[in-house]
Amino acid sequence: MVISKTSTILETSPDNLQIFQKLIYAESLLDKIQELEGKYSKPRITKKTLTQLSDTLLTEHSIEIPDVLQKYNLSHSDILPGVQCPNCNKFEMEYISASWRCSICKFTAKKAHLPAINDYFLIVNQSITRRQLAKFLKMEPMKARNILHTIKLPSTGIKRGAKYFLPKNCIFSPHDENSMEKGGFFT
Ligand SMILES: [Zn+2]
Repeated sequence: MVISKTSTILETSPDNLQIFQKLIYAESLLDKIQELEGKYSKPRITKKTLTQLSDTLLTEHSIEIPDVLQKYNLSHSDILPGVQCPNCNKFEMEYISASWRCSICKFTAKKAHLPAINDYFLIVNQSITRRQLAKFLKMEPMKARNILHTIKLPSTGIKRGAKYFLPKNCIFSPHDENSMEKGGFFT
């Protein structure tokens, strides 16, 4: 096991010192690999098995989304609703003619809702209904339907009961409008 935080203190009882063979700090990782390479020079695993193993690890990998509200003892009402202006950072954007316009600095951005949707999934809940989305983005439910239509999230249920989710292991790109234009998602 590799510990990335150098401030972590490892303590154990004097009869359990072998634990330091299994636990190391990240800065010692390269030395440890070189030490193991010297010790075990004969390959124990075929290239084919190694490829299968890496494929399995990649398919089974899932990003961890911690319960932030519970962790910091917060409730839904502590989270500011609305779409944040990428220019002045105020949560005062209005959805007009398929684009967001800041009522403070007049900045416009077509996909300013993406970071807000990201935040909802990562902080509030891992699923969202059209009504919840409209409330969170401070917009009319009919217009929220257009947004859901353009971002094509995986969903279950139909009509008003439909729930939408983030695609597996994907979160939206952060505030950079250009990168959103190109990819939409990154893993
Ligand atoms: Zn603004």
